[in-house]
Amino acid sequence: MSQPRTGWEPEIDADGDGLSIAVIGAGAVGITAAHDLATTGATVTVYEKGTVGSGSSGRAAGVLYDAFATDIDAQIGARTQERVRSLSGVDPFTFTDCPYVMVAHKNDTTRCEALAEGVERMRVHGRDVSCIEPATLGSQFPLKTDDIGVAAVSRNAGWTTPQTYVDAVAKRAVNRGVKLKTETTASIADAEDTTTIIANGERTTYDRVIIAAGAHTKQLLGAVGITIAMKPYRVQALTSTVPYNGPMCYDATTGVYFRPHPTGMLAGDGTELVETDPDQWERDADTWFIDSVTDAVKQRAAYDITVDRAWAGLCTATPDENPLCGELRDGLYVATGWQGHGFMRAAGMGEAIAKDVLGEPSIEPFDPTRFTGEESFEITEGMAVE
Ligand SMILES: Cc1cc2nc3c(=O)[nH]c(=O)nc-3n(C[C@H](O)[C@H](O)[C@H](O)COP(=O)(O)OP(=O)(O)OC[C@H]3O[C@@H](n4cnc5c(N)ncnc54)[C@H](O)[C@@H]3O)c2cc1C
Repeated sequence: MSQPRTGWEPEIDADGDGLSIAVIGAGAVGITAAHDLATTGATVTVYEKGTVGSGSSGRAAGVLYDAFATDIDAQIGARTQERVRSLSGVDPFTFTDCPYVMVAHKNDTTRCEALAEGVERMRVHGRDVSCIEPATLGSQFPLKTDDIGVAAVSRNAGWTTPQTYVDAVAKRAVNRGVKLKTETTASIADAEDTTTIIANGERTTYDRVIIAAGAHTKQLLGAVGITIAMKPYRVQALTSTVPYNGPMCYDATTGVYFRPHPTGMLAGDGTELVETDPDQWERDADTWFIDSVTDAVKQRAAYDITVDRAWAGLCTATPDENPLCGELRDGLYVATGWQGHGFMRAAGMGEAIAKDVLGEPSIEPFDPTRFTGEESFEITEGMAVE
């Protein structure tokens, strides 16, 4: 097996030797945390009800950047970039460097101001992002710029096929001793015994349990009467067969993003701001989404979408748009609520969760107990520049 460069290896001081840890969910977040915990000597078991990556991770668009305006997100985003770059080339994962352009339309003054302010805050956190004159943007990239009021470019960015990340990390996790139980649905025994897992009719008690079950996390906890402030919601993406060699781009006014893809282009948005049942939702993309993304991409990149595949998947929202990540009950940890940014933070968050579980806290702002779970809140779009 090809070896990643050093930046991939988890930076964890704590010793997990002698600890037994269960992770529910083999998405990008759960499998990274499991891998990282195994490197500390912990005995780790992962339960996955489908196959590795069969939740949202395998449906994600694979856009990764570190252009975050808050301290902790910027750190996690940067660490993720470092790790994925180091892992790139480890079968079957590759990461392709590509600048990420953000734009707001001239007539959309609110988003123009918000984007300019956001860029300043990203720069305070040391991110390689800067505003650029629309005409200069147009001279550097194949984008239409006549209607752009504010534009910015983030350089520490790129794309991948998310399933390849999950597969590469799962392979490494298993090599490091993680017991990976796929096609195995797991549940928590009861609210008083939250570190006992029931799977295939068997009860197993662990020292720590991490629930990284994506859109199912609320339901899984709710089954034993534990409430969390999270709502799953549906988003959509498509791939197109016409070649595209431009940058990744997010148009904050239309809400549409696109990037190069092996078939030509991948584009997405189609966000539905309503809570979705994680077991009952339409897997195929809607016609209105295909129409609106086609118009938006034509306007921005003079590109005609010819749909190859169009699909939907679930994201998870919280009242303050920050994840719920940390200890929820004694020994029971949760990791969800990524607001559409779970994949691009997974390598950094997985490591941070592993540290947290071993008593090395670094993600206090994401403490899941900051909410009772009874809060009523509206879902907001994760990428939105407001
Ligand atoms: C169309 C689309 C585009 C996206 N694009 C991007 C993007 O470009 N960049 C980005 O950062 N994010 C993106 N996202 C969001 C990203 O996909 C998620 O934030 C991320 O994948 C979440 O990873 P996870 O490991 O938390 O959850 P998941 O990948 O959903 O993993 C959870 C796993 O838990 C399993 N599970 C659930 N219940 C149980 C149970 N009871 N027992 C056992 N296993 C269980 C599921 O089968 C699943 O495999 C996108 C999402 C979609 C849908």
